[in-house]
Amino acid sequence: MLLFTPGPTPTPEVIRAAMSVPTIHHRTPEFEEIFKTVREKLIKIMNMPEVLMLASSGTGAMEAAVTNLCKSRALSINAGKFGERFGKICKAFDIACTELKYSWDTPASIEDILREIDKNPEIDVLCIQICESAGGLRHDVEGIAKAVKSINKDIMVIADGITAVGVEKIDTAHIDVLITGSQKAFMLPPGLAMIGLSGAAVKKIESAPRGFYFNLASELKSQRKNTTAYTAATTLIIGLRAMLELIEKEGFEKFYEDTKTRALSAKAALEAIGLKIYPKSPALAMNTVYHERAKEIRAVAKKRYGVNIAGGQDELKDKLFRINNMGLIAPYEIAWALNAVELALDELGERAYDGAANRVFVSKFFKGVK
Ligand SMILES: *Cc1c(COP(=O)(O)O)cnc(C)c1O
Repeated sequence: MLLFTPGPTPTPEVIRAAMSVPTIHHRTPEFEEIFKTVREKLIKIMNMPEVLMLASSGTGAMEAAVTNLCKSRALSINAGKFGERFGKICKAFDIACTELKYSWDTPASIEDILREIDKNPEIDVLCIQICESAGGLRHDVEGIAKAVKSINKDIMVIADGITAVGVEKIDTAHIDVLITGSQKAFMLPPGLAMIGLSGAAVKKIESAPRGFYFNLASELKSQRKNTTAYTAATTLIIGLRAMLELIEKEGFEKFYEDTKTRALSAKAALEAIGLKIYPKSPALAMNTVYHERAKEIRAVAKKRYGVNIAGGQDELKDKLFRINNMGLIAPYEIAWALNAVELALDELGERAYDGAANRVFVSKFFKGVK
């Protein structure tokens, strides 16, 4: 079965092999050396001055960012399931939150955000997804962050980059918190979250430490010394080192370039067989299609052609399907996933098979046909 869900993504053999070593103790010079290497590499690829690794799924890092940085009111962008989650985190901690809601196919507008900030001078953090995975939507976080900082540089911009870090190079110039998780573009098993921090975010965290397990001030203190406040996710961090070394062989630039070419080639292939790309501003992390029979298409792709693609969530559960594009993906694997979709449409009597998806993907991906 080919796993084509936008998280978890398949873990390459070399990374799995790297994690098959006996468990080592986390308070040892041996592990601290590994931690240091990974920490330095993450600082570089996240392009942030400070970085933390937490033993939790991505949501733990979202919670940590909100609870450690919001002191008065959050402004949360809700254009999908993950944006909605920031609001739920605020509610769980009795943190005041203003929510800006959008349809799941619509990116947030800078004007709306600036208007809310103008109305609510107590807003001190902005929470937003870079890619909102519910609808495969890309928000212009870089532009939004820049505009927010130009009117109030003290507002902390918390960017959930769980399906953006490792997909494309993110301009972090105006971002204070950049969150990611192990099981998306980093191709590791679930269980490790990473947070990039700006100098201003570090200052704010250290000025008023909060929480216990997700107390980022105590993590900062430990992780600067290449250890963690509590037991580190040693095996995942060893896997992360292997993953970063694997990508570094050809470089992250090449990794991003391949991801982009593959995303756009697959998108063109889906459009060539008459499918509608759902979001108005599609992210590169996945291709998201709206179809009344999405559920049946997925079922056929899985049962007959061995391809596991994701559905939607909530009201769009059965109306969307999402094909992952994060990580190292062999072109013959994505080509087969696209074939499976085209074959499923044929089987369901929606469109006669003519091989267009495969032809368009291959000619774009390998021949650079525009
Ligand atoms: C997957 C995902 C999350 C949630 O991460 P978990 O690891 O499941 O807690 C949050 N935000 C986005 C954008 C995601 O894609």
